[in-house]
Amino acid sequence: MALPIASCLDLCTLALHGISAAEEVGFEPTEPFDSTVFKTAAFDHSATLPSSDIFFRRDKRSNIFANTPNYFYGTVSYFFLAGSIFHSIVKVMAIRIILTIPDPVLYTPSLPVTSFGRDLRNLVRDMYDTMNKANGVGLAAVQAGVLQRVLIIDLEHQGFRKGVFINPVLLESSGEQRSEEGCLSVPGLSVPLTRPKKVVVEYQNLSGRTERVEAENLFARALLHEMDHLDGKVFIDLLEPDLRLAHAEEIEKIKQGIRIEAVPS
Ligand code: ZN
Repeated sequence: MALPIASCLDLCTLALHGISAAEEVGFEPTEPFDSTVFKTAAFDHSATLPSSDIFFRRDKRSNIFANTPNYFYGTVSYFFLAGSIFHSIVKVMAIRIILTIPDPVLYTPSLPVTSFGRDLRNLVRDMYDTMNKANGVGLAAVQAGVLQRVLIIDLEHQGFRKGVFINPVLLESSGEQRSEEGCLSVPGLSVPLTRPKKVVVEYQNLSGRTERVEAENLFARALLHEMDHLDGKVFIDLLEPDLRLAHAEEIEKIKQGIRIEAVPS
């Protein structure tokens, strides 16, 4: 309640500034009022406010804003400016919370994307902001709490590509690769996992157009990892039983929200 009361007091003070200053220059209000009340309540504004702070039009009755002090406009302008800057910051950096195990949403299959409009573009923008803030190279929408079949990957620094893959479908897979794998939803854990070396994936782009991509090595691994998320699977559930047992204690700590150090297996 403190804020509304304070705001109300501010407005009352502004009103008193305007009315007492109006009296000084002979302003007669259109609505009759007891000026002694205001004289009693208001302090001596001529002493506290420089004359340049108060502006009156010559024809005061022709303009409802005529007896509004300049600093009122200044204050409003600053509020608009601050609001605009805040809005810009919020739009530029939209970081979403990344869900971690054992959040049940992570184990829920995502739904196909059917609408390729502004909401989807906003979601993808937020996902990029969120992934970059977390120093990740891939993110599925479900990790940001949105059950839609959308994933992003940024492996440009590793010599692959960056992109958004919507409603991806695995068409072909071949070969085998084994390498360390981690996940933003399982923070701190890195475990070797065997996956196909090459894949062909069909997907839709942000405009809804169907495309295909051939990927191998790390790019293929990243695509498969994120596509598993869309099916409600987390990579630790794909580990061989002995590896899962070896990392059971760390996994339990992560589930309890305890931060663990990334230790190579
Ligand atoms: Zn992941």
